[in-house]
Amino acid sequence: MKKYTAFIFVMVGMLSLSGYVLRNNPSDSTTAIVDVTVIPMTKDVSLEHYNVLIKDGKITALGKTADLKIPENAKVIDGKGKFVLPGFFDMHAHFFYEQGDNVNTCEAELKLMLANGLTTTRIECGDSVYLVARKNVREKKWKGPELFVSSPQFVGDWPWPGKMFAMLCKSPEDAIAAVKKCKKQGYDEIKITFMVKREVYDAIIKTAREENIKVTGHVGPLVKLPAALQAKQQIEHMDEFIDMLLPDTTYNHGESVSDMNIWRKRAWNTVPYLDEKKIPDLVRQVKQAGIYVTPTNYFFLSSFADSISKETFMKRPDYAYIPKKILEERWKIREHYWKKAPPLASRQRYIQIRKKMTFQLSEAGVKLMAGSDSPEWFLVQGFSIHDELETFASAGLSPYSALLTATRNPAEYLGILSTKGTIENGKDADMILLENNPLLNISNTRTIFAVIKNGLVYNKTDLYKLKNEAKRSLNPDSPD
Ligand SMILES: [Zn+2]
Repeated sequence: MKKYTAFIFVMVGMLSLSGYVLRNNPSDSTTAIVDVTVIPMTKDVSLEHYNVLIKDGKITALGKTADLKIPENAKVIDGKGKFVLPGFFDMHAHFFYEQGDNVNTCEAELKLMLANGLTTTRIECGDSVYLVARKNVREKKWKGPELFVSSPQFVGDWPWPGKMFAMLCKSPEDAIAAVKKCKKQGYDEIKITFMVKREVYDAIIKTAREENIKVTGHVGPLVKLPAALQAKQQIEHMDEFIDMLLPDTTYNHGESVSDMNIWRKRAWNTVPYLDEKKIPDLVRQVKQAGIYVTPTNYFFLSSFADSISKETFMKRPDYAYIPKKILEERWKIREHYWKKAPPLASRQRYIQIRKKMTFQLSEAGVKLMAGSDSPEWFLVQGFSIHDELETFASAGLSPYSALLTATRNPAEYLGILSTKGTIENGKDADMILLENNPLLNISNTRTIFAVIKNGLVYNKTDLYKLKNEAKRSLNPDSPD
């Protein structure tokens, strides 16, 4: 009897905890968003007074409110005055697991991503723990965006001890073995970061091609941009782009304020000599290579160039989610950098040049992708995608072009445009419902009314609950 009572108690508890999932069970009926403005992201249009029908996790119909009938038993969401668009992608995220004491809080972090409108995320540094997270989301055991997981980072001579999340590749032979191993382990892409020598790089590219796995990541000073463009690598951070603006590439021993060199004062000394007239030719070369680029501008500008005050960081909505131990580390790193910060004029020029490059790349039709690089420094997953979208807009991109970087472009890059990235009949019901129009002001992406993932509707209360659950896991002492 006692056992039975305990069983009932546990069951009731479980039911109330997972209430929003049961309430929205997608297989039992249709969900209808009624009289909403659809921003489909197929082209730069808004479809006003539309109904969107969702069943079994898919968009089953899309049409004018006056014409499209709503099934009798449908669960209706009043979309009047609201805007629905595809769920967002963050193409460059990590987990806190790589920092501090390597505590696995992936499940909580995934909730934060979802609560902020992410329905697909690429994790840009691999670990077997993340492959488990990817599986748990796919099997619907965990709530969160669909995950794509890059390999552990491919590095050359790596001087740092501790848990590395890295594949050490000192020779082409190391590289060949590492690519094959990562492909076998089920990683979605090969991620390159630091100090990779040219002959090792060439071996990575060649083997990845043979193994049919994409290569993403940094471009280091030992490789340089022309070789990466020739290899058609998908480039993160616009690494080595700025290098192409030096008076000549041998200038300052070829050291520009790019990649890891951003930490070196010596590299910052080159900033006054950067030649902006070289940007159009750089853009032409990138466009010709046909690659996708993830600028991660907000992370670079807010961390290394914009002197944001401690108080401003502390007031950010995501600050309270950063685990205490990691937060202490973050402040130490920030103080270390800012103690010897480069001159203001150089930092301002760096900001202006990064934005100019981003704008001209976009204007030339280079496919840009939104990546937050969270949880680096004080950026937390999910929250920071909105910062990155605003940074695209502040670089001069139209709100529509900015939105492409977090919807259609990444879906196309990942090869999943047939199911995600736009709002069209038959596609996955991964969507965000906003209270205000993001085409008028990109900051309106923050006005989330609901997130729909696989047809499950998370309303404002559910999203608040997800964030709170995450906060309790990440920072058990913090108030709700
Ligand atoms: Zn990163």
